Amino acid sequence: MAQAPRITLIGGGLVGALLARQLAQRRFAVEVFEKRPDPRRAGFLGGRSINLALAERGLQALRTAGLADEVLLRAVMMRGRMVHAHGGASGLQRYGVDDSEVIWSVSRGALNMLLLDAAEASGVRFHFGQSLLDADFEQRRIRLADEAGTVREHDAGLLIGADGAGSALRATMNAYAPLGERIEPLGHGYKELEIPAAGALPPELVRQAGGEGRFALEPHALHIWPRGGYMCIALPNAEGSFTVTLFLPAAGAHPSFATLPDTAAARAFFATDFPDLLPLIPRFDADYAEHPVGTLSTLYLDRWHLDGRALLVGDAAHAIVPFHGQGMNCGFEDTVTLAQLLAAAPGDSASVFAEFQRIRQPNADAIAAMALENYVEMRDSVADPHYLAKRALGAKLAERIPGHYMARYRLVTFTHLPYAYALERGHRQDALLEALLHGAPDVEAIDLDAAARLFQSTLEPLPELR
Ligand code: FAD
Repeated sequence: MAQAPRITLIGGGLVGALLARQLAQRRFAVEVFEKRPDPRRAGFLGGRSINLALAERGLQALRTAGLADEVLLRAVMMRGRMVHAHGGASGLQRYGVDDSEVIWSVSRGALNMLLLDAAEASGVRFHFGQSLLDADFEQRRIRLADEAGTVREHDAGLLIGADGAGSALRATMNAYAPLGERIEPLGHGYKELEIPAAGALPPELVRQAGGEGRFALEPHALHIWPRGGYMCIALPNAEGSFTVTLFLPAAGAHPSFATLPDTAAARAFFATDFPDLLPLIPRFDADYAEHPVGTLSTLYLDRWHLDGRALLVGDAAHAIVPFHGQGMNCGFEDTVTLAQLLAAAPGDSASVFAEFQRIRQPNADAIAAMALENYVEMRDSVADPHYLAKRALGAKLAERIPGHYMARYRLVTFTHLPYAYALERGHRQDALLEALLHGAPDVEAIDLDAAARLFQSTLEPLPELR
């Protein structure tokens, strides 16, 4: 049997570490160069959202790597969206039909460290504090710098970039042979704030907020405070706190990060727009002043690879906005596809990389589009009567004709069907729901038998779901 090629991975974040684990499990010799220090020694310096929603696609990839159970032990189940209206009323909109369809809040740092441990246990060699500077694709050599600025060179073998949205490998590839890069900024940014565990807050406040046990709010939900053009969300952390993320236009509108430059302005804005949330964030002034405003963009590339020499995966190839909670999940799906393709044809990386892009790119484009649409849904539509009527009609049809109707959110979140299929099916289902509601805006007045017949005669049955 031909010897498997050596693989050099740039980036030991979520996608890089999981990919490294799977490649090592398939007996590839894998080395990973990661810019940051080892988080298991230095503490996690993630800097971005400190928790993430893990859904079925990501879980399936973790199962493939033998890690799902371990990850779920540290995760908090979220059954649906807890929508907090302006007047203070809140209600749970379930994501799925029951507790078999839930998502999980996981700590980015803990997950990353678990994946690093697992990859190392499978034989991966990590080099921390090593930042890729550039690559010589003719000689297949890369140059790296450590924190002190000392530069070293390394023979790369196959080069794979999992170095995130600002990928240095992508920049180097693009300079060598343009990749057709297009970055579309959303124009909205985000800032993270923290609700501490219930014990750090007055009990009366926790009671009013619907807290439970060590949590100041209902723990098993993704909380949303939709306010039309902007919103706050909060995801639970296992130790009882919540990470709150404020999403707001960057500039050019009010409110925006530009018009809320200091804590006094931000506090006054929260007191008006999020009066129930503000008292739950006792370190509001410090969080607001100290935490940076993150930017959000969608990245599109015509080419993800340089023949058989270098390939981009995860955010480095297809960063998306976070509103479907699928960026990591999508990157995790990448890892399974790539590891399987490479294992099947280890000596033909040019064909493998081309096939990887052929399979994954339409799906990355589809989830990018759905993530953008979901921002409008989360910040605005979840409180809109027409949206709620459509959701209610969809729920009735899902019960009556499960083989013909499944909400797009569920197709994306709870199945392994390709994202591109979910997007296309979702559009066709939505057109039918709109037609039914156009004729009779009151859901109770709709003839469900006729509605079911319409779906069954217009749409082919759903494929096997997993
Ligand atoms: P990254 O996580 O960015 O990791 C890249 C790694 O490469 C890092 O460790 C970095 O240090 C390293 N690196 C960078 N440059 C170099 C270099 N020059 N040399 C060496 N190493 C380098 N996704 C979900 O699925 N669910 C969610 O709920 C969710 N919420 C999100 C919320 C927010 C606010 C944001 C911004 C994103 C969210 N995402 C979510 C998306 C998710 O964070 C990304 O899709 C995921 O982190 C991508 O993983 P990655 O490994 O490709 O990139």
